[in-house]
Amino acid sequence: MERTKVVVCGATGMVGQIYVAMLSDHPWFELVGVAASERSAGKQYGDVARWYIQGDIPARARNMTILPCTADAIAATGATLVFSALPSDVAGPVERSLADAGVAVVADTASHRMDADVPLIVPEVNADHLEALSLQRKGGKRGFIVTGPNCSTAGLVLSLKPLQLAFGIRRVIVVTMQALSGAGYAGVPSMAIIDNLIPYIKGEEEKMECETQKMLGSWMDGAFQPANIPVSASCNRVAVLDGHTESVLVELDRPASPEEVESVMRSFQGEPQRLHLPTAPDHPILVRSESDRPQPRLDRLAGEPARARGMAAVVGRVRSDPAFATGIKYTVLSHNTIRGAAGNAVLTAELLAAKDLL
Ligand code: NAP
Repeated sequence: MERTKVVVCGATGMVGQIYVAMLSDHPWFELVGVAASERSAGKQYGDVARWYIQGDIPARARNMTILPCTADAIAATGATLVFSALPSDVAGPVERSLADAGVAVVADTASHRMDADVPLIVPEVNADHLEALSLQRKGGKRGFIVTGPNCSTAGLVLSLKPLQLAFGIRRVIVVTMQALSGAGYAGVPSMAIIDNLIPYIKGEEEKMECETQKMLGSWMDGAFQPANIPVSASCNRVAVLDGHTESVLVELDRPASPEEVESVMRSFQGEPQRLHLPTAPDHPILVRSESDRPQPRLDRLAGEPARARGMAAVVGRVRSDPAFATGIKYTVLSHNTIRGAAGNAVLTAELLAAKDLL
């Protein structure tokens, strides 16, 4: 099978580097270009990227000349699929111009997440929302935009979906402890975070609250119907490099024991597992029984097979909550730049390919 040619926009950043690593030997996608800001364009990727992933920069990307993020430069590579990891304030118009030029755009950025015709996807949770692409493709257009959620929403919705299916959900209260890489390379100065935590992340709580409702809702009669589930989020930045940890309290519609909750989480699978997509973890949720897990250092790279490392959410400390008759609380951890960004987007692109939507 001929591989789909892809370009990564924002390839030098925290998320962009994960793309470069994941795409350097991908069976379905061929990395043909890396793009970044005008500051980097024209330079060699290996000279500019401040590589933070264990191991060397993949040979394929090291000597690539960085492109500007323009439709013309990207079209010249022959790419028909672009992964966008641009800063939110520049992503909106760039992604739109690429889609208008006929390119499939899979984005990690916030700009188009809540658009009425843009699917916001975690493939195990709401693959059916891809039906919204028919709106974007009206009139025979080839290009489109699909997005993934905020990094802290990804792990949350993965853990909530099996509960919604099995027991129904009345409300969700979540407190996050989010890693530094979630703020980008230049995000949080070391003097602000060492020996400290910061109990505020701009815009994050609002994103978690509305994105969760969109993703747990349905696509019906040509529109997204958000789930009627109030979500209350409190977001904190902590001195962890990678991996967002979240304390979650869920009020269920029907009572369930911790054992029943663990059981539905353990057996949960979605479209990626049914379709055997290359980056799909065998089990999207791993449940730990130890009382002190999950932990970022130990659990952030969970997921089998090897290509799916960092794609599984890890849940632990599942217990009943004394404040709500049908309350369940637990801790969930997911890797913010893999499941919360690049890995989720690569899996989404695999889903698009498997459904013949690319
Ligand atoms: P980052 O480390 O700051 O990287 C930003 C990237 O965008 C770099 O490649 C940078 O290139 C490029 N860029 C900056 N300004 C540009 C411009 N004007 N035109 C074109 N390219 C430009 O950020 P990040 O953490 O990877 O995040 C990227 C996006 O993903 C953001 O929208 C973020 O909200 C989203 N996201 C991040 C995470 C996470 O965990 N980090 C998770 C989910 C979603 P230069 O090197 O040339 O400056």
